[in-house]
Amino acid sequence: AWGRVKRRLRAELGEDVFASWFARLELDCVVGGTARLTVPTRFLKSWIESHYLDRVLNTFKAEVEEVGRIEVGVRGTTAPVRPVAPGAPKPGPTSGPLARLHAAGMPAPMPTTPAPDMRAEIAGELNGAPLDARLTFANFLLGRSNSLAHAAADRVARHDGEGALYNPLYFHAGVGLGKTHLLHGIGHAAREAGRRVIYLTADRFMYGFVNALKTQNALAFKERLRGIDLLILDDVQFIQGKSIQAEFGHTINALIDAGRQVVVASDRPPTELEALDERVRSRLAGGLVVEIGMLDEQLRASILSARLAAVRVAHPSFEVSPAVATYVARAITANGRDLEGAVNRLLAHATLTGTAVTMETAETAIRDLVKNREPKRIKIEDIQKLVASRYNVSRSDILSERRTAAVVKPRQIAMYLSKVLTLRSLPEIGRRFGGRDHTTVLHAVRKIEKLIGEDTVLGDEVELLKRMLQD
Ligand code: ADP
Ligand code: MG
Repeated sequence: AWGRVKRRLRAELGEDVFASWFARLELDCVVGGTARLTVPTRFLKSWIESHYLDRVLNTFKAEVEEVGRIEVGVRGTTAPVRPVAPGAPKPGPTSGPLARLHAAGMPAPMPTTPAPDMRAEIAGELNGAPLDARLTFANFLLGRSNSLAHAAADRVARHDGEGALYNPLYFHAGVGLGKTHLLHGIGHAAREAGRRVIYLTADRFMYGFVNALKTQNALAFKERLRGIDLLILDDVQFIQGKSIQAEFGHTINALIDAGRQVVVASDRPPTELEALDERVRSRLAGGLVVEIGMLDEQLRASILSARLAAVRVAHPSFEVSPAVATYVARAITANGRDLEGAVNRLLAHATLTGTAVTMETAETAIRDLVKNREPKRIKIEDIQKLVASRYNVSRSDILSERRTAAVVKPRQIAMYLSKVLTLRSLPEIGRRFGGRDHTTVLHAVRKIEKLIGEDTVLGDEVELLKRMLQD
């Protein structure tokens, strides 16, 4: 039914509007007449809530009668607290909705109405998104993975009109590796140098354009964007909708041709922006493309300790021992956002329980942020050896033609484990089991699957073998 709701919305609202606001709308659950929907950003949430809530509800009702209410949430928010860095200006009333939401130092519940400054922007003219006062070059820590990106950012922020070499400047990296931080850093530095800067996320770019079309003001929107020195666009992988993409292409072309600087960030290289026109992609690839790599342990440790120091400004009694800090920096390998999340957890833990953070509490607090170790590559040979020793037969028995029950069962279990634990095909597994046919392997896999379902002792046994092979 959700698929139909989306198709209906697309048909009713048109491709551009749909792509701008609804392409990333997902159904979470329907509970007691309330359909809970999610979007990836707060901005989208407020926009949908303030403009399309009734529309979505009616469309939903038309498909699923018992739905009487719609709720929109933001996906995957571990609701980062951005503590004030030492020396950074305290967030004032104008410092954006996030800062206020988290003023208490704890993840806050989602507001049901857009925050006031966001409302002003939705109602009024496009002004670009505000820059976060904490995301400066000074607060950006350097490591092997980001020093090239930082050098390029610094150059573009300070040197005007250096020609086509760095234009556009394109950063790509996975989530939480510092793209947005660098973009804001560029914005701050360029503004300090007196340049006219607009920072936009893909959402706001799309909003600006759709809004301009609606108010027949598209020309003014374009003029406005083209009258600046530096355009910074974040998360361009989200730009969707045919005419918006075309406009995006025109905008960057016009700016670059006029010698203005464009800086872009995305979660993937320009060649992989499938949604964009080939010419736009190659224009994006035509300047300097820099990848920001994973944070190494040293960089994680310094980001963590800076974050801890920042939190201690507001919470002087919050202590984290060096051992715990080292543990956290080693355990959380994924990205800066998770490190930030970890500090919030530790702080919440310490404040709620009134106790110091021990190794044990730290482990519990961050458990869900710790990335599972890379799954091990399991070899068929290891499976055969383990299963053989477990059933007191030899590996050559397993590979042999012998058909006694004492050998057949371990052989079938080994084939089954090879199928579920490796990426080998059935014919390949057959070859590795003494040149058997793939139908023999298939038969073994089916047989064991069936037996596991019927016989819990065997089920446990096979589960144990799996674990032994996996660690
Ligand atoms: P992205 O935009 O790539 O998803 P962000 O720029 O939002 O990532 O970074 C996530 C968090 O990690 C932010 O709080 C940011 O300040 C922090 N962070 C990432 N890299 C660094 C760094 N090199 N120095 C300091 N903080 C960093
Ligand atoms: Mg970002």
